[in-house]
Amino acid sequence: MSVAVCIVTFMVVCVFVFRPFVTAKGRIGERDAGPGGGTRLVEEREALVDAIRELDFDYRMGKVEEDDYRATRSRYESRAVELMRVIEETAGPAPGIEDRIEEEIAAMRKKDTVICAGCGRATPEGARFCPQCGTALAGSHP
Ligand SMILES: [Zn+2]
Repeated sequence: MSVAVCIVTFMVVCVFVFRPFVTAKGRIGERDAGPGGGTRLVEEREALVDAIRELDFDYRMGKVEEDDYRATRSRYESRAVELMRVIEETAGPAPGIEDRIEEEIAAMRKKDTVICAGCGRATPEGARFCPQCGTALAGSHP
């Protein structure tokens, strides 16, 4: 029981800690890496996609030599792939993290809520398997 109170307290603290970062849009995004960052990376990736599109267009119009086209395109593509990977790694707290925490606190306050051992999310009352990841729930008895 006291463990549950501790967890709830911790989550409430988390909400207050994360709130300024979640609501102050772009504050974290000013950094290249770090939790919630990557705004600039996303912009760079979009610019790259535009550049690739433009390059394709120029190539079709005959403005770019095939060798140049292939070399430039593969360079753009590998940079785009690299950016995608970095963006995923530094995505940090998703935009919906606040809602999710509050949702989980509400679920935990309810009696007999089972927290999934597989993904740590609260599951609906009486569920035998986690709707998120399909793990069999320990608290369920036939
Ligand atoms: Zn799960």
